[in-house]
Amino acid sequence: MIVLHHSGKPKWRPETIRKILKNEKYIGDALLQKTFTVDFLSKKRVINKRILSQYYVENGHEPIIPRELFMLVQVELARRANLRSSKNGVKRIYISKYTLSSIVFCRECVEIYRRVHWNSCGKKSIVWRCASKLEEKGSDCGSPTVSEEDLQKAVLKAINCITARRDDFIKTHCRNIETA
Ligand SMILES: [Zn+2]
Repeated sequence: MIVLHHSGKPKWRPETIRKILKNEKYIGDALLQKTFTVDFLSKKRVINKRILSQYYVENGHEPIIPRELFMLVQVELARRANLRSSKNGVKRIYISKYTLSSIVFCRECVEIYRRVHWNSCGKKSIVWRCASKLEEKGSDCGSPTVSEEDLQKAVLKAINCITARRDDFIKTHCRNIETA
């Protein structure tokens, strides 16, 4: 929605721009059931927060923005979401010095995972926790606390898995070319 400024010129609201930047329709995809009707008489619709299944349709229609560009925008949005203002108003990303910062997300509430120094019964370790649990008020998010060692192992395993599959893919592709 564009709001008219008192000067008569259209004023873009940040939420409007954010919605446009995050809209998968521009790359030809569609997330179905983003909202659903709760009252068929009043036609009231609410945002579907994991109540009904959502379906993601890739390349359902002609894109107007290249997929790579869209993905770069999503990375930048995630980076900016991690900017925090300090007391003197300085904006900095103080969590991005670690390789896994900003790329590990909570599967329960989609918050980022943060690296924290853990001290349990005098035993010190480094763990990663859902950021929502680290806020002052705390949250009831049921996601687990993961030791840094386990997280690194899991990431390594995932990378190895992808590389292995890529080799398989290349082999099959070469064989197909030979056969052709
Ligand atoms: Zn969480």
